[in-house]
Amino acid sequence: MLDPLLLGLLVAAIAIGWWLGRRERRRAREQPAPGVSLPRDYFIGLNHLLNEQPDRAIETFVQALEVNSDTIETHIALGNLFRSRGEADRAVKIHQNLLARPTLTPHQGGLVQLELSRDFLHLGLLDRAERLLQSLVKDVPDEGLRDAAKRLLVDLLQREKEWQQALDVATPQLVRQDADIQRAAAHWLCELAQRDRHNASPGMARKRLRQALSIDESCVRATWLLAELERDTGHYKAVIRHLKRIPEQDPGFLPVILEPLHEAYRRLEDESGWRAFLETKLQETHFTSVVIMLAASRLNTEGQDAAIELISEQLQAHPSLRGVDYLMDLYLIGENHGDRERLLLLKQHTQKLLAARPRHRCHRCGFGSAQLHWQCPRCQSWGTTKPITGLEGE
Ligand SMILES: [Zn+2]
Repeated sequence: MLDPLLLGLLVAAIAIGWWLGRRERRRAREQPAPGVSLPRDYFIGLNHLLNEQPDRAIETFVQALEVNSDTIETHIALGNLFRSRGEADRAVKIHQNLLARPTLTPHQGGLVQLELSRDFLHLGLLDRAERLLQSLVKDVPDEGLRDAAKRLLVDLLQREKEWQQALDVATPQLVRQDADIQRAAAHWLCELAQRDRHNASPGMARKRLRQALSIDESCVRATWLLAELERDTGHYKAVIRHLKRIPEQDPGFLPVILEPLHEAYRRLEDESGWRAFLETKLQETHFTSVVIMLAASRLNTEGQDAAIELISEQLQAHPSLRGVDYLMDLYLIGENHGDRERLLLLKQHTQKLLAARPRHRCHRCGFGSAQLHWQCPRCQSWGTTKPITGLEGE
């Protein structure tokens, strides 16, 4: 059976064969000699390949292929092939061997260094990768290579949680060019602001958050943190002002702000303000959390029937599991006879179903989670996780 690697090698072998043949023909033209032949090593390598001994085939081909300007890219590709099949240490050997050649042009040298840093990243040798990438970012004249090196370096610095350094590398060029990096940069500033907040430097934190919003005005996390800073000092009117901005930045985040917003209204003893906010939002959206919170407010002021009426009405138009679960809570209030048992049994089922379903999902990779992650734990994207809507969500 030919696996993809073997197939790749076969293509490489044919390419090498073609090249060796061409070289021989050129030599033949230069020094007239009878016949055109391929080196013996080439056939030995091909033989290993056909006998499904790829490792020996590669060794033979590498030996047969002298390093010169025509074959550099083939050597680089061989190294990458090793890395892609999880043998980054062998890729390092091939790429380091190439780097030792004095004949490399600056562009080829940069290309090999870039691949070598990818090998190091693959092996988890972050220090060595960082040193190589830093020198590439500084010295390499080729813009494309410098860009690729910057992206790798930014990726590495993020892994090391070196947010300020990542910003220094990415700003301004990458932030301007790439929407993902732009969004990430705003989150790096939020990370730094969080550190400032913990170190009791709210002024510095605010400055960074304003900078985050100037990079990405839709960064809800920056606004969220501005609200947190106000909450730290008990400025609840400012908390409300910031939190209310979040659904304007991204309507999908409305469910996330409800708890802290309710808390701020409670602190100000402004239940009617809270109620007015919910009523307005119910006109604009159909999030289950809004319906449940409004029903809870009605329960307090108008009683059980008013709350049940609201939930039932909303469930008909927008069915949701959490809505049904809350409706059972409402029915259970004051229920003492036989129906109570049945309701409790039903509630057990809805609770189990709800517990098995994630509340948030990453729009990039589909990763579901109970809590909201600013950076997706699976695909590492920033700001791509949002509350889930629909029957099983909001
Ligand atoms: Zn993801």
